[in-house]
Amino acid sequence: EAKARGKGTWVRYTDEMGARISAEAELIRELRDAIGAAQFELVYQPIVRLSDDRLTGVEALLRWNHPARGLVSPVQFIPVAERTGQIVAIGRWVLATACRQAASWVRDHPELSDMSVGVNVAGRQLREPGFVAEVARVLNETGLPAACLTIEVTETAVLDDQESLDALLALRALGVRLALDDFGTAASSLGLLLTTPVTTLKLDRSFVESITTVGRQAAVATAVSQMAGALELKSVAEGIETPEQRDLLLGLGYEYGQGYLFSRPVPAERIVEMLERPAWVSAG
Ligand code: C2E
Ligand code: MG
Ligand code: MG
Ligand code: MG
Repeated sequence: EAKARGKGTWVRYTDEMGARISAEAELIRELRDAIGAAQFELVYQPIVRLSDDRLTGVEALLRWNHPARGLVSPVQFIPVAERTGQIVAIGRWVLATACRQAASWVRDHPELSDMSVGVNVAGRQLREPGFVAEVARVLNETGLPAACLTIEVTETAVLDDQESLDALLALRALGVRLALDDFGTAASSLGLLLTTPVTTLKLDRSFVESITTVGRQAAVATAVSQMAGALELKSVAEGIETPEQRDLLLGLGYEYGQGYLFSRPVPAERIVEMLERPAWVSAG
C-alpha cells in the first residue's frame, strides 16, 4: 500500500512538474515575441517628498500587455526573463523608453530639473558587458541629465560580485543615482552599504505594511532611517497606503515615500497632469 501510494505520489509529481515546465516554455516563447510585437509598456509611480507631498520623481514599472492573458505582472515574468537572459533585451527597451519619457518631462517643465526617474535593473543586466556604455549612450541620445536617472538594484543583484560593483562605480562616475531597492529583505545588507556607491535606500514595503501596529516593523524602519541619515543617503519608504503610515514614517525621518496613498503606477500622460499641479493633495 505504501509502495502504491509512493508510486502515485511520484506520478502526480511528475505531471505537475511537466505542466510547469511546458507552461514556462510557452512563457519563454511568448516573451520572445513580446518585444517585437510592442506588447510591453511602462507605467510610472510618483515618489513624493513626505513633508509636503510634492512629486519629486517617479519609478518606471514594466507591464506586459499579453494579447490573450491581459496584463501580466512583472513578478510573473521578470524572474523567467532573468534566467533566460531575455531581461537584457527587455531591460534595454525599458531604459531607453523611461529616459526618453523623463527627458521630455524635464524639457517641458524646467522646474523639474531635479526630478528623477527610477529604472529597475536586474543583476543579469548590470553584469552584462557594455551596460554602462549603453546607459551613457541613452543619456546622450535622449538628453536626460544623468542626475535625473536613478538605477534601482536589489541587494541580491549586487551581493559579493566585483563585476556589479565595477558597473555601479562607473554609473556613479557618470552622475547617475543608485538606489538599493527592497532594502532589508535580503541577507547581509550592511556591509554592502560600505562597499557599494548607493545614493538612496528604499525601505521594503514589507516593513511598512503593518508599521503602525507591529512595533518590530517600526523598529527596523527606524534603524534603516538612522543608518541612511548617518551615511548621508536619501531614504524612500515603499508601499505607503495610509495617512497613518505616512505620518509615522515622516516622524521616523523618511524624506520620500511611494505608495497607493499618493498614487498607483499610472500611464505617462497622468504624470504630466500631476506635474502641472504645484503640489497635489493626497487622500490623507
Ligand atoms: P519594485 O521595484 O520594488 O517596485 C515596487 C512594486 O510595489 C511595484 O509592483 C508597485 O506597483 C508596488 N507598489 C507600490 N506601491 C504600493 C502600495 O502602496 N501597495 C502595494 N501593495 N504595492 C505597491 P510591480 O509594478 O508589480 O513590480 C514588481 C517588481 O517587479 C518590482 O518591484 C521590480 O522588482 C520588478 N520590476 C518591475 N519593472 C521592472 C523592470 O522594468 N525591470 C526589472 N528588472 N524589474 C522590474
Ligand atoms: Mg524598484
Ligand atoms: Mg522596491
Ligand atoms: Mg519591492
